[in-house]
Amino acid sequence: MQFIDLKRQYSILKADIDSRIHAVLDHGSYIMGPEITKLESELARYVGVKYCLSCANGTDALLLALMAYGVKPGDGIITTPFTFVATAEVIALLGAVPIFVDIDPVTYNINPDALQETITTVQSGRNLHNKKAFTGELKGIIPVDLFGIPADYAKINSIAKTNGLFVLEDAAQSFGATYNGKKAGLLSEIAATSFFPAKPLGCYGDGGAVFTDNEEIIAIMRSLRIHGQGPDKYTNIRIGINGRMDTIQAAIVLSKLSIFDIELASRQQVAMRYNQILSAYVETPTVPDGSTSAWAQYSVQSDKRTEVMSALSQQGIPTAIYYPTPLHLQKAFEYCGYEKNSFPVSEKASQRIFSLPMHPYLTEEEQKHIAKVFAAVF
Ligand SMILES: *Cc1c(COP(=O)(O)O)cnc(C)c1O
Repeated sequence: MQFIDLKRQYSILKADIDSRIHAVLDHGSYIMGPEITKLESELARYVGVKYCLSCANGTDALLLALMAYGVKPGDGIITTPFTFVATAEVIALLGAVPIFVDIDPVTYNINPDALQETITTVQSGRNLHNKKAFTGELKGIIPVDLFGIPADYAKINSIAKTNGLFVLEDAAQSFGATYNGKKAGLLSEIAATSFFPAKPLGCYGDGGAVFTDNEEIIAIMRSLRIHGQGPDKYTNIRIGINGRMDTIQAAIVLSKLSIFDIELASRQQVAMRYNQILSAYVETPTVPDGSTSAWAQYSVQSDKRTEVMSALSQQGIPTAIYYPTPLHLQKAFEYCGYEKNSFPVSEKASQRIFSLPMHPYLTEEEQKHIAKVFAAVF
C-alpha cells in the first residue's frame, strides 16, 4: 500500500501528461514558457482571485510574499510551531523574528485567542513564552491551514486589521479547501501554496504559487521572482531571487488541475470512510462547520500511537508523523529561546499524532484492511 499513490494518478492521466510534457519539449521554452501564464490564469480563476504568480516551490512562495511586504531584520512575524519548517524558516531567513502562538487542539491551526493574547503581550512590553519581550515591529501573521483545514480567518483577519498586521495564508496543504464558501488561497490578503508532489495538487518536482487581489504586491513579487527585474530583462530595481517555476512542471499541474475537483471529492469520501471505521479507536479529524478540507493528510491522535504504527507497518501499511517535533523545540530555532512546555497543545499533539495513507485512489478494501489492524490493536 502507498502512503500517497501518485502512480495510480499517473496511470489515469498518462496520455494527457505525456502529451503536455512533449509539447514543452517541442516548443523549447523551458523557462517561462506559455504554460506558465496559462497555469497562472487557470489557478487564479479556480481560486477566484485576481492574481496568481507561479514560483519555484512553496517555500519561495512564502518568501516572496514576506519580501513584498518589506519584512526586514528585527520585524516580528507570528506563526505556529506545529507546521512544516518552511513556514517559520522564511521568517528567520529574512532576519525577522518568528513569534510562535499555540494551536487549537481540534483543528491544529493557530488559536485566535492565543493570537490575540500574544499581540497584547507584545504591545504591553511583557515577556513572551521565551521569557523575552519583543521590542521590534510586529508586521504580520502566517496562519497555516494544517492537513488541509483552513484556519479561522474571520477571527484572524479581524485581529490583524485591528492591529495593522498583514495576514499571509500558508495554503501549502489546503489548496482546494473552502472556508465559508471561499477557496483557500483567497482567505486573507495574500496566500502561498506548494505543488510539491505529495500536496493535494502536486507536480513532478518542485513548484508553488502566490495569490492576491493586491495589484501593487503582485507587481513587486513578479519582479522579486526574477532577480528583482525592472521593466526589461537586464534592469534590476531591487534584490530578488531566482524563484521561477519550470515550464514542464506547470504543464503537469495544468493536467492534474483538470481532474482536481473529482479527486477532492474522492479524498472527501476516503476521509468520511476513515471517520466511520476508526472513530471508535482513535481521535479522528473534525472539520469545523462552514469549512471543507483538502485532506492533504488524514491525521489521528492516540496514546497507543507506537503500537498502532508498528502493527500497521507489519501489514505493509505506511504511516507518518506530522510533526514529531514542534518548531520551537527544533535545534534550528533554539536561538529563539523557547523551551519545553512553551506551547503545550502543540507538544501534546506531536506526541500522539500520526497520519494514515490518504489519496484519492485509496480503495474501500484497503481502508477495511487498515481498520482490521486497528481493531486488533484495540
Ligand atoms: C510543503 C509545505 C511548505 C513548503 O512547500 P515546498 O514546496 O516544499 O517548499 C510550506 N508550508 C507548509 C505548511 C507545507 O506543508
